[in-house]
Amino acid sequence: MRISFKVLLVFVSMKTSYDLVIVGAGPVGSTLATQLLKLNENVRICILEEHAKAGTPQQCSGLFSKNINDVATLQKKEIIAEIKGADFYSPLRSPLEIKTKQIQAYVVDRTLFDYRLAKEAESLGAKMMINTAFLGAKKIDDVYRIKILDKKQNKTKTIVAKYIAGCDGATSTVAKTFSFPKMESLYSYAIFVDAKTTKDKEFIKNNNVALYVGKKTAPDFFLWKIPRAGENTIEIGLASKKNPVFLMDKFIREEKINKSNISAKMGGLIPFELRSKIVKEGVVLVGDAAGQVKATTGGGVIWGMKCAGIAAKALNKTIEQDNSKYLGTYVCEFNKKAKPELKRLKLARTFLNSRSDRQMNLVLKSLNNKKIIEFIKENGDMDSITPAVVSLLKKPQLWSVFAKAIFRSLI
Ligand SMILES: Cc1cc2nc3c(=O)[nH]c(=O)nc-3n(C[C@H](O)[C@H](O)[C@H](O)COP(=O)(O)OP(=O)(O)OC[C@H]3O[C@@H](n4cnc5c(N)ncnc54)[C@H](O)[C@@H]3O)c2cc1C
Repeated sequence: MRISFKVLLVFVSMKTSYDLVIVGAGPVGSTLATQLLKLNENVRICILEEHAKAGTPQQCSGLFSKNINDVATLQKKEIIAEIKGADFYSPLRSPLEIKTKQIQAYVVDRTLFDYRLAKEAESLGAKMMINTAFLGAKKIDDVYRIKILDKKQNKTKTIVAKYIAGCDGATSTVAKTFSFPKMESLYSYAIFVDAKTTKDKEFIKNNNVALYVGKKTAPDFFLWKIPRAGENTIEIGLASKKNPVFLMDKFIREEKINKSNISAKMGGLIPFELRSKIVKEGVVLVGDAAGQVKATTGGGVIWGMKCAGIAAKALNKTIEQDNSKYLGTYVCEFNKKAKPELKRLKLARTFLNSRSDRQMNLVLKSLNNKKIIEFIKENGDMDSITPAVVSLLKKPQLWSVFAKAIFRSLI
């Protein structure tokens, strides 16, 4: 019996064709798969992950506010430390401590966290292809022919999908392949220091993160110190438009950190703005690939996972109706539920970055006020700015103190 080439192609395609190919098994890609499969267990999903294991290598501090509980249930073994407060250091290095009794944030082991999320997606029916990189895609006859690299065999292959989700992080190959608009990013660099000195051990015990601002420390962002109690280490990281390693070396020298105590280093890009387009011809971008990151702190996990939930609903409708016009609902819902807050956070970051060291010294000094500290303890939120502003508007007795701090930052 002779089989025509076309029939053969259809046969091959059937075995390797999907409704949706998700590129990237980070927290966003895995959440997208899980949420979509919860809406419709029959959706055929394939997740491509270029590394050998989801979550490895780790390129994240894993500091999540308590709002992580809205998008995931953390497992005990994933929690490295519980954070109850923060020490803010002005350019003059005078501290302002905001300490609470309750847990405000968690330091999470991203390797364990990401891996578990990937396994959850797999257990619901997503096909996981590890060691497999997305190289590019072309639309032929209404489906995408996706070129992938099997890194173990060093072989390129083709799989077929109706839709593609780029959840492949800040350097998104999917975004490049489909010529999505570019976005600005910061270079981030971090070191892990074994806690050997008494000062370090005390820092870990105190359960506070420390944030350092100043043009000479981290001109476009801030420098952070995070206690990792479960590992008895401290992470020191910073983000910057340029020279993050130089800035880190300077901090190491100033703080007299013994370089032999540095056990690991990591780096990566942090998106610094929203991508101006996130849907195009059956392709969606979600998470870091879409720039869905808080510009105030660089955190992208919680908002990225929330946006994955929004994208899942739109993709479900799209696949159900077999019509890519429904991907527009992802944009609409994102514009309603996430974009305004992310834009406000970016405005806040732009304002902070435009302050001089003198202004920042004065602001932090003015904020060191009992009433303000109490207000921040009650209303501060690492992921949003609006709830605190709304609360402040309802408390006229605090306006003058805050106005003083803002005024000092303007002169
Ligand atoms: C140093 C640093 C510290 C950070 N600290 C925090 C923090 O404390 N809290 C916080 O909330 N956020 C933090 N972030 C940001 C956070 O890491 C990201 O926002 C988050 O990981 C975004 O998730 P994602 O799934 O969108 O992308 P990623 O986590 O980047 O996942 C993308 C996945 O896609 C895979 N991939 C990429 N290209 C391809 C390809 N071509 N083919 C196949 N697979 C591909 C990658 O291997 C990766 O697994 C930090 C970032 C950095 C760089």
